[in-house]
Amino acid sequence: MKFWNEKFETMSEDEMRKHQLECLKKTLKWVYERVPFYKNKFDDTGFKPEDLKKLEDLGKLPFMVKTDLRDNYPFGLCAVPLSQVVRIHASSGTTGKPITGPYTQNDLDQWTECMARNLYAAGVRSNDICQNSYGMGLFTGGLGFHQGATRIGCAVIPISSGQTERQIVIMQDFGTTVLFSTPTYALTIAERAEEMGVKLRDLPLRVGVFGAEPWTIEMRKEIEARMGIKAMEAYGLTECGGPGTAFDCVEQSGLHLNEDHFIAEIIDPVTGDVLPYGTKGELVFTAIQREAFPVIRYRTRDITTLRREKCSCGRTLLKMDKIYGRSDDMLIIGGVNVFPSQVESILLDVKEVEPQYVLIVRKKGYLDQLHCDVEAKPETYEAGPQKISEIEKMIENKIRGMIGIGIKIRLVPPKSITRSEGKAKRVIDERKL
Ligand code: ADP
Ligand code: ZN
Repeated sequence: MKFWNEKFETMSEDEMRKHQLECLKKTLKWVYERVPFYKNKFDDTGFKPEDLKKLEDLGKLPFMVKTDLRDNYPFGLCAVPLSQVVRIHASSGTTGKPITGPYTQNDLDQWTECMARNLYAAGVRSNDICQNSYGMGLFTGGLGFHQGATRIGCAVIPISSGQTERQIVIMQDFGTTVLFSTPTYALTIAERAEEMGVKLRDLPLRVGVFGAEPWTIEMRKEIEARMGIKAMEAYGLTECGGPGTAFDCVEQSGLHLNEDHFIAEIIDPVTGDVLPYGTKGELVFTAIQREAFPVIRYRTRDITTLRREKCSCGRTLLKMDKIYGRSDDMLIIGGVNVFPSQVESILLDVKEVEPQYVLIVRKKGYLDQLHCDVEAKPETYEAGPQKISEIEKMIENKIRGMIGIGIKIRLVPPKSITRSEGKAKRVIDERKL
């Protein structure tokens, strides 16, 4: 079969909207009757669930933000009694106190369905041996991938992240065909394999499904080349259940949203205005098939663009561009907005350096200054200070030309930047230390 769920993955826009409206009506009534937070918020705006006549009416509801979730930690937003909850996850806490995600059995099934579609679109099939190197535990990545791959019928190796040498040995011994991890951990594995003299391209490994953090197309190509695999993508967040909210297909030109489960909007992060498809802005989700914790107009802080376009894979599901980054990670340097991913794109095209870098924001007088430490390739480093300084200047000029900002590049010795086993921390803000 071509799709995991042909009916929903190839549904016409009209039918999808009908389906969404029906589910949305149910969800609004569900949360209004069960969660005081929603009742109060709806009442404040004079909105009753029965007032929802068309999908656009969703725009009358207020947004939810991360602090709403933190203020109601741990179970204040849970719409079912804890006796009906069968699982509790929490976010990684990348930007502060983690948030909780309670699930009913139906929620686990809903999430697993989304994840199975994601993996199936990545080419994962029941005869695959999947090495799951996402952190297993409270973080949704590990169990999300585990459930999706198990639903497809794969043999799953729940190795979790870390113990990189062992990952490579298992890969060889068990004949792993598919790897699940963050993109940065994939790179760490690839590098360790090279050091151990193991040629990943000669192993049965053929696909990776990577996500949980922003990564550029250049990073994808780097991983594909170093591992000899096809690198596919998964996107999701604890607030929507975990990975599987959106996924890419063979076209690798943006991610399909599971829009029968999640209604997506793009807003202007400053004014909160809803923006038309094709415009870059902040992604907002409403979960329409979840029970314990259905978010309504949740501001993700992730920046992307939505597109309604035909995809050669045959799916009709709305597409979103690769995430540019989180609004929290956006830097303003000399009046120019910069995402770490823009710098990453340029660094990865420089053959003298490794794809290992960290951005540091410092204050000089009244001005914010952006610094970037990037690892030199061993041969670059050995070529001496003059060569190093030439390359630093060359990268600085490239960045000035392409992004329009001044940046101070420093080539650091090989292997001097800490390797990540999960989500990489790309920005150190010394102004906040
Ligand atoms: P935390 O916000 O604490 O990291 P989660 O573990 O729930 O919480 O991670 C969800 C976030 O991870 C998303 O909101 C997004 O910023 C990021 N993310 C997940 N998948 C991707 C992806 N494929 N590309 C870019 N960012 C991603
Ligand atoms: Zn497609």
